[in-house]
Amino acid sequence: MSFDEINKALLEWPLYEWSHEKKQAHFIPVLNKLTQNHVERCVEYRRLLTVTANLSCLEAHALDEVFPLPVRLFKLQRLKSVADSNVVKTMMSSGTSGSTPAKIYLDKTTSHLQTKILAKIMSSLLGKARLPMLIVDCPATVKNRHQFSARTAGILGFSMYGRDLTYALNDDMSVNWEALNSFCDKYHDEPCIVFGFTYIVWLHFIQALQAVKPLSCQLPKAILLHGGGWKKLQQQAVSKAEFKAVIADVLGTPHVHNYYGMVEQTGSIFLECDEGHFHCSVWSDVLVRDPVTLKVCPNGETGVLQLFSLIPQSYPGHAILTEDIGKIIGEDTCPCGRKGKYFSVDGRLKKAEIRGCSDTFRRE
Ligand SMILES: [Zn+2]
Repeated sequence: MSFDEINKALLEWPLYEWSHEKKQAHFIPVLNKLTQNHVERCVEYRRLLTVTANLSCLEAHALDEVFPLPVRLFKLQRLKSVADSNVVKTMMSSGTSGSTPAKIYLDKTTSHLQTKILAKIMSSLLGKARLPMLIVDCPATVKNRHQFSARTAGILGFSMYGRDLTYALNDDMSVNWEALNSFCDKYHDEPCIVFGFTYIVWLHFIQALQAVKPLSCQLPKAILLHGGGWKKLQQQAVSKAEFKAVIADVLGTPHVHNYYGMVEQTGSIFLECDEGHFHCSVWSDVLVRDPVTLKVCPNGETGVLQLFSLIPQSYPGHAILTEDIGKIIGEDTCPCGRKGKYFSVDGRLKKAEIRGCSDTFRRE
């Protein structure tokens, strides 16, 4: 099958309906096709698979046979499977200060797939109609459209699913009370979306509201969608339960959903269900590996997450070894009714562990 045919078929797949066997039967062949494509077109990727004796994963029979590309290599190398002239967008990871950001090169096809698949995943949560959207960030974040930070990309990506986009913060990250009050006035009784990065929602928005407790700012029918990691909040010792409880209290919003995703796999995000579990959609999957041996951990055991996505065609990001730790809670059995694997993300690897992880390329 050509990528054109595959991409057409991908968009017909049901989001969360296939149980294990059916999903693997569809997923693995496309994953192999991606590996073959990147080996053929990306010199660095081919070299890596050759020196680590991993070329056998061109014909993988299961997820665990697919080479886990350490995510930090996107910071160290130019990993790209298309000609420069076909790159339509370059996405950058946020990167901690001083570190090189990862660069992700998108061609038209991959960019289009990202948008389509993200739309399908989002509509499973928000419905098909565009809802009014309060963006918990400042307008300056999206001004530089040439180089996409994860935050810029997130806001621009998600804002396509909203209407009457309203920024809740000023460019100095203080609350724009006028904009906020008018949004709350208008949409108090309507379904709407509140979207933002987890730490910005908490530090610059919820805490500011908590200090003032403005009774006018209530959005009882909103869905609050947030992502981007808990690291900064864990430093402040905020638990997920507290996060949800305070939002319900100050904003009157009981529906709070976290999402998990990597800039390296934009589009195939993992949404949190009402049970508090991240779910793989039909276009993504997850494995947990021991950070030292890279052996696959059984469900319930904590290790480093390897994430799979069928979207990346213009760069070898279809099977990446993240620096996040977590565990698979189950597969096909979540009480919410969605099929597929569901998991938790429990933190980040420590620096020393990452080094070990990146060194352990060779499969046994
Ligand atoms: Zn669930």
